[in-house]
Amino acid sequence: MNEIQLKNWSIALDLAQTKTFYRKQTHWCSCLDCENYREATKYIDSSIAKIFTALGIDLSKPSHLSEFGEMEDGTHLYMGCYHLTGQLTAGPHCSDEDWHDGNTVKVQNFTFGFSTEVTFAHEDLSEPVLQLNFEAQVPWVLEEKPEE
Ligand SMILES: [Zn+2]
Repeated sequence: MNEIQLKNWSIALDLAQTKTFYRKQTHWCSCLDCENYREATKYIDSSIAKIFTALGIDLSKPSHLSEFGEMEDGTHLYMGCYHLTGQLTAGPHCSDEDWHDGNTVKVQNFTFGFSTEVTFAHEDLSEPVLQLNFEAQVPWVLEEKPEE
């Protein structure tokens, strides 16, 4: 485990385990909403990409993803989570019910925090498992449009 500093948090992270886990993930949901999210992560702002690279997470492979429709500005609201091998050693946790500016960080169109709960984690990921919850406003980048 290596200790890394990320925004308001210190994380004891097993970068090698986390990277290996994401490299092995080859099954994902192929619905249009998920396809769009995965495609959009290719064009995501480098300030966000950098954070996920530091954590060893492949942005295109969330553990769980839900789409909540089109926003006024034309982007689509997504919520989901990723998992990594590690634990918080300093800084606040969040949860679905306890989600605010004090325990999450907003970078561009991405807001994320580290959850007290672990859900949807893949059994292949080594313990201890830390869950990153996020919400993101993502543009629709696929040519095929979502059904209304
Ligand atoms: Zn899907």
